[in-house]
Amino acid sequence: MPDGLFPKYAFITGGVVSSLGKGLSAASLGALLEARGLSVTLVKLDPYINVDPGTMSPFQHGEVFVTDDGAETDLDLGHYERFVRTQMGRKNNFTTGQIYETVIRKERRGDFLGGTVQVIPHITNEIKASILAAGKGYDICLVEIGGTVGDIESLPFLEAIRQMRIELGREQTIFLHLTLVPALLTAGEIKTKPTQHSVKELRSIGIQPDIVLCRAQQPLPADARRKISLFTNVEESSVISAEDVSNIYSIPRRYHEQGLDSTVIKHLGLTNHHIDLNEWDRVVSAMDTPETTVTIGMVGKYVSLTESYKSLSEALVHAGIANRVRINVKYFDAETLKTSSDAKKALTGVDGILVPGGFGERGTEGMINAVEYVRSAAIPYLGICLGLQIAVIEYARNVAGMHHANSTEFNQKTPFPVVALVTEWTKSDGGTVARGGDDDLGGTMRLGAQRASLKEGSKCAQIYGATDIYERHRHRYEVNNTFLADLEEKGLLVSGKSIDNLVEMVEVPSHPFFVACQFHPEFKSTPRDGHPLFSAFVSAAGRHIKGNIDNRQMAKVAGE
Ligand code: GLN
Repeated sequence: MPDGLFPKYAFITGGVVSSLGKGLSAASLGALLEARGLSVTLVKLDPYINVDPGTMSPFQHGEVFVTDDGAETDLDLGHYERFVRTQMGRKNNFTTGQIYETVIRKERRGDFLGGTVQVIPHITNEIKASILAAGKGYDICLVEIGGTVGDIESLPFLEAIRQMRIELGREQTIFLHLTLVPALLTAGEIKTKPTQHSVKELRSIGIQPDIVLCRAQQPLPADARRKISLFTNVEESSVISAEDVSNIYSIPRRYHEQGLDSTVIKHLGLTNHHIDLNEWDRVVSAMDTPETTVTIGMVGKYVSLTESYKSLSEALVHAGIANRVRINVKYFDAETLKTSSDAKKALTGVDGILVPGGFGERGTEGMINAVEYVRSAAIPYLGICLGLQIAVIEYARNVAGMHHANSTEFNQKTPFPVVALVTEWTKSDGGTVARGGDDDLGGTMRLGAQRASLKEGSKCAQIYGATDIYERHRHRYEVNNTFLADLEEKGLLVSGKSIDNLVEMVEVPSHPFFVACQFHPEFKSTPRDGHPLFSAFVSAAGRHIKGNIDNRQMAKVAGE
């Protein structure tokens, strides 16, 4: 039952520059409030016009995060799920494009009775309704407004939250503003002016922040805090230092030390439960005191932009926490691995290889070369989504003798289409979905959490400690069941299948660790709980190094 009659709303805006980490700040505040026993949810409002974040290029926009209910969302929702236990879904992320689409659909239906449809009130009303719907049933809903104050695009969002303060009241709403406090190296001093201006800009549209979070390289000195308080009209205790940290999971504790959670709780009149940050302290201490380092090679196409693999690299960090090792992720551009000897040369020395998800043909031959190397050299391999399809193609070509085997995504004319488009499949509710190669992008993928059954006694079932799992999907192509018997005969084990008989997991039992999944386990990994697949992969990579060291020592003893 929510703490009060209605959910409280905390609005987080950003100023001065973009990419200050509003998502992390919102998520960290969420973690603190949750650690105080409150039920917390978060919403991200994105100012861009795209209706479907799923079709945006990872090069421009970073990873597309997928929720259990199959929404393709902004990567900030990934931060939210890593910091709070509430599951995000479709209602936790919306774009200007989606808001406009809804309003225009209503207009076409005649809902506005021929009235003039305008930004205020129609667009702002739709924004408010979406925020209220997302908060329903929770003690507090944290609302992150994408973009930077002063941008044209985010104005309707800011106007909507300004109105919410008036309509719901001061006790129901709180405004947090994240700004930058830069340090001038030459003058050796920090500058508060951009923060003053950013808050002035916010006030000019009618929003007075209650809390200012200051991103800075170093902790904010007392005099800067005083100055910011004076010029922004925010109490000194509500000027919070958000200095750079080497470990993002230490942010909740850092905010707590400055009283951020108690300030929010006091302002909103929420019950002041005792706070328990033990789980977060454990995460940070495991990361700060690793016993060894494990190097994981990631072979993909978007390697120049690590934001495209955000959940994946975080999932590896979480596996490091579970194994008490530091993870060193090395990115390899698949296009540079032109032959298997290139792959061998580049990848020698890594302790495990991961081929992540991806779309399109580019780089796939390089990935196949990488997999050939790690499979034959007994190096631990984890294949995710495209990484499973690549593993199956490689196995078909190099072990099962299916020359030029491929996915029809990359070669329509392959003689062995071991991965192909399935045009009809069953949803978990029993309904069927049809999809075709020429359909609109977005809406034609297998999306969201689905059940898979793992084979009793397989390595995958052992790793999960279960034979029934739910994992999130985001792909169009599937392993072609026509070739399964031949592949299995040659030693590939299909260890997981969906309820509609599609391949979900494969493994090579004769290999120390060769596991691949058609789903995206990284979306369900959290720092506190980790994820069994990543933990097992990193543990196998750790054993691989140990084996190498033991071999080297034995060679030394033998005088080699
Ligand atoms: N391109 C592949 C497909 O659509 C894999 C997708 C992915 O890795 N997410 O099936």
